Amino acid sequence: MRTRVFSLLLLLLTAAQALAQDLAPVRGRGCATDSYQEVMQQRDPGFEQRRQQALEAVQQALQQQPEGQHLRQVTISIPVVFHVVYSKESENIPDAQVLSQLAVLNEDFRRLNADTTNTPAPFRAFAADTEIEFCLAIVDPQGNPTSGINRTQTTKTSFSYISDQVKASASGGADAWDPTQYLNIWICNLANDELGYSSSPGALPERDGVVLHYRSVGTAPFNKSAWSYNLGRTATHEVGHWLGLKHIWGLGMTCNDSDDIDDTPNQLNETVGCPEGAVTSCRNGPNGNMWQNYMDYTNDACMNLFTRGQAIYMQSVLRSARGSIFNSVACTGELRSRFETAQPQDTLVAAGDQVQFAGSSAGFKPTSWLWHFEGGTPATSTEQNPTIRYTRPGKYRVTLTTSNGNMSHTLEKEEYIYVTAEDLLVYPNPATGFITLEQSAREQVQQVELVNRYGQIVLRQQVQDRVVRMDVRELPAGMYVLRISSTDGLSVKKVSIVK
Ligand SMILES: [Zn+2]
Repeated sequence: MRTRVFSLLLLLLTAAQALAQDLAPVRGRGCATDSYQEVMQQRDPGFEQRRQQALEAVQQALQQQPEGQHLRQVTISIPVVFHVVYSKESENIPDAQVLSQLAVLNEDFRRLNADTTNTPAPFRAFAADTEIEFCLAIVDPQGNPTSGINRTQTTKTSFSYISDQVKASASGGADAWDPTQYLNIWICNLANDELGYSSSPGALPERDGVVLHYRSVGTAPFNKSAWSYNLGRTATHEVGHWLGLKHIWGLGMTCNDSDDIDDTPNQLNETVGCPEGAVTSCRNGPNGNMWQNYMDYTNDACMNLFTRGQAIYMQSVLRSARGSIFNSVACTGELRSRFETAQPQDTLVAAGDQVQFAGSSAGFKPTSWLWHFEGGTPATSTEQNPTIRYTRPGKYRVTLTTSNGNMSHTLEKEEYIYVTAEDLLVYPNPATGFITLEQSAREQVQQVELVNRYGQIVLRQQVQDRVVRMDVRELPAGMYVLRISSTDGLSVKKVSIVK
């Protein structure tokens, strides 16, 4: 009896496995981006708000798109770092395979792919060169040279989008590089043969980027995996998500939702495998689903285009939510000086105050710092974070030159430090036409009132600026009292007006 139940179980199990194998190709590419977004919504309380803000910024950028001019003709180059996280040597894919992935990204996004001829004639008019390119980073976030391929050995045998552990060294992965300067692409063994997933604009910086199954990376002859996802199109698809694109059928499996792109046909759900001819849904005949689009679920060999609408959308993301990547020097190998005051409010100080500066840089690491402080003591410094005293009121220039022996860069900020008088100044006194109030940085005046000798308020002014001019041309000559309400409380000053 026992054996029979067991045999029956075994039989059922085998049948289920066979069924699962039969069903496997129907599932299409395993992109976990939508599921990952749901995980983020549950786990990260600020995510939804940041995502909405990013979407609004993209919408604004889209609206600024000049009518008729579909695409900006300036090519954008996005610096990429590949984090190869491996436990087995087979997962530690060679540089050549990673480089072939970079080449596929550049071909697909610039519509230089060899299979554009497979785009059906009715869709060819919509196909676009997105003007977006990808370059391998040559400098790391610490300013050191890098190959752009960052290898990390791990004890973890697989990773999943649910735990997202590949993105932190503390959990057996590799930490993200500053995503305002780099597109992070992690390559690892993803559980359940998920091909990849991407964060969307609005993700936390440490979670921002694309994750790829190591078997999906690159193309022949370097990618030797015998499956339908060995031509590097998973990265094309996931980077499409990273630049804000949805799946071509939208989020749900209805005809009522959309990918919010005008020139992709409405379609019900994903297209899988490699269909022959048109697949219609949502009354989109005769041409049917655009299953050749990179944002559908077909095999690598069967996808070959982004549309103009998708290109415009991705460029709008690059001009808004991901705008900082434009200023990245990660691929150009420059050295750029940066500085701020250590405390943000310290660009406004009173005479006699000290200011601490914080020098930093982008690109290659500097070995020397040279500062010039107009109006400051000392007037020069070679420290990275010098402290400077300002004794006289005025607006002063700060200059920083960083150098590493081979290169140097100078950043100059005019009128960067505003030094006010030590105390509130009121002048001239006596006055004829105008009374000027100059506030000290040490307090904030909110309101001034001029009171005549009968106790009547003859002038009241709300104060927003550091320097306030009061028009007293219409007032009779005599003695007045100026009542000043500030963060320090109420104070009075006698002023006389003469004619
Ligand atoms: Zn996807």
